[in-house]
Amino acid sequence: MSGLLPGDPAATIGGEATPRALCVLAPNPSPMTLDGTNTWLLSEPGSELAVVVDPGPLDEGHLRRVVDAAESRGKRIALTLLTHGHHDHAEGAARFAELTGTEVRALDPDRRLGTEGLHGGQVLDIGGLELRVLATPGHTSDSLTFHLPADGAIVTGDTVLGRGTTMVAHPDGRLGDYLDSLRRLHTMAAEHGVRTVLPGHGPVLADALGAVDYYLAHRATRLAQVETAVEAGCRTAAEVVARVYADVDRTLWPAAELSVQAQLSYLEDHGLI
Ligand SMILES: [Zn+2]
Repeated sequence: MSGLLPGDPAATIGGEATPRALCVLAPNPSPMTLDGTNTWLLSEPGSELAVVVDPGPLDEGHLRRVVDAAESRGKRIALTLLTHGHHDHAEGAARFAELTGTEVRALDPDRRLGTEGLHGGQVLDIGGLELRVLATPGHTSDSLTFHLPADGAIVTGDTVLGRGTTMVAHPDGRLGDYLDSLRRLHTMAAEHGVRTVLPGHGPVLADALGAVDYYLAHRATRLAQVETAVEAGCRTAAEVVARVYADVDRTLWPAAELSVQAQLSYLEDHGLI
């Protein structure tokens, strides 16, 4: 949702991203989903087990390609995880669980299949692959990020995208939570030497700290623009969008309006408007 590009727009999407992460791109491109949803297949080299993050939309061909990608590498999918409950990430989860016989774990109990939950602070071991779960609310209240320490990588869902910036899905998503999540991601990435972002949409990013800094700066710029728009007399979120997001493709304006509502609510909560 920005004309600025932190990623390399020429980067290819799909395929091996790190020694432990393979991207299978779903065929659901749109202005909101960029090239489509990135379904991540993660596995420890030499292990027979794999974990899938975000099966993606309910598209039988895509779900079967994910299974084939695992099987052709001699792997069995042992677990399915969700970064959050939006349809482009989670709609195919139930069918994927049926195809693979796996449980689906997510922060939101309504998105789970099976008995086990998922929450920040958990450390998962899938056939020797260590995944640390971080709560990163803001895009949605149920957004999680998965840290793959062995590859110095984070699987970010829609919290950090490979191109442009993401939306804060008001009222479930909250800007204050989102800024806190970005700051915690920054600290964590600096402390643990995280370099690679494996995003929910768009190309892999090689500079995690730079991407998070860019997002923080972008949010600060937008917030100042929204504050100025209100001071200039904009009364509704739609009026603010028309003024502040004039540079953005109009197909994204409905999403921008949710982000503006999140920003207006943040400014009100902080007594700034
Ligand atoms: Zn989303």
